[in-house]
Amino acid sequence: MSDPSRPKGPKIIAVANQKGGVGKTTTAINLASSLAEEDCKVLLVDLDPQGNASTGLGVDVEDREYTTYDLILGEVDLDEVIQTSSVAGMSIVPATVDLSSADIELMSNEKRSFLLHDALRQTAMDNFGFDYILIDCPPSLNLLTVNAMIASDSVLIPLQSEFFALEGLSQLMLTVREVRQTANASLRIEGIVLTMFDSRNNLSQQVEQDARDNLGDLVFETKIPRNVRVSEAPSFAQPVTEYDPGSKGAEAYRDLAKELLGKHLNRAA
Ligand code: ADP
Ligand code: MG
Repeated sequence: MSDPSRPKGPKIIAVANQKGGVGKTTTAINLASSLAEEDCKVLLVDLDPQGNASTGLGVDVEDREYTTYDLILGEVDLDEVIQTSSVAGMSIVPATVDLSSADIELMSNEKRSFLLHDALRQTAMDNFGFDYILIDCPPSLNLLTVNAMIASDSVLIPLQSEFFALEGLSQLMLTVREVRQTANASLRIEGIVLTMFDSRNNLSQQVEQDARDNLGDLVFETKIPRNVRVSEAPSFAQPVTEYDPGSKGAEAYRDLAKELLGKHLNRAA
C-alpha cells in the first residue's frame, strides 16, 4: 500500500528465518490452509531446495515438472508452474533440489536478486485472483531469501520457543533493513510467531517474555503449541487443518490466520 508504484494484487509474505527447524514450512503450509478456510485464495511458493512444503502437500517429486527454479529463471510463466493442492482455494509452486544451485548459477546475473520479484510482480496477477502468496524460504539468508524479501510486502518470522531463539534474529532484522534500503523500501515485518510452544516449560515462557519485551507488538498474540498432530500431518500429505481439524495445532493456525487478517483489515481501514 505504501508504494503506489506497486500494482494492486495479492499480499506477498515471506516466511523466513535463517535457522532450520523453527517451523517455517509448517507455518507456511498451515497458515496458507487456514487463510484458504477463511475464503482467501492462497498460493504457496516453495523456495526451499529441500522441497518440504511440496512434499508436505502431496506433490510427488515426479510431478514437479516445472518448479520455482524454472519460474525464477524465467523459463516458464506463473500459470504453467502453479499446481492445485488438495485444499480448496490453495495452490502451490513446488520446488526441487535444482534450486540449491541457483545461488551459484545466478552469481553473474545482474538481476539475480529480483528474479522472484519479476516473476510474481510483473505478471498480470488479476487473472489469478490470489489474495495471499506465502513464500516458504530456505534456512539461510542467501540469494533465495533475499529474492523472497524483495518480492514481498512483508516478512513473517517463526521463532521456535527454545534456548537461543532470539539469537540470529538481529541478523535477520539487519537483512530486512538492508533490503529496505536497497531494493524494497516498503518491506514490513508482518510479525513474529512463537512456534512449538510448550506452556508447561519454563523456557518457552521465558522466550515469550523476552520476545514480547524486546519486540513488543511485532509478536503475534497467537502462539503455536507443540502438537504431535502438526508433525504427523506432512506424512499424510495434508496441512494439520485437514489432517486433524480439531487438534490444538489446527486451532492455533486458524487463530493465527484470523489475527493476521484482522491486522490487514485494520491497516486498510
Ligand atoms: P523449518 O521449515 O523452519 O526448517 P519445519 O516447519 O520443517 O521447520 O519444522 C521442523 C520440524 O518440527 C518438523 O519435523 C515439523 O514437523 C516439526 N514441527 C513444527 N511445528 C511443530 C509443532 N507446532 N508441533 C510439533 N512439531 C512441529
Ligand atoms: Mg522448511
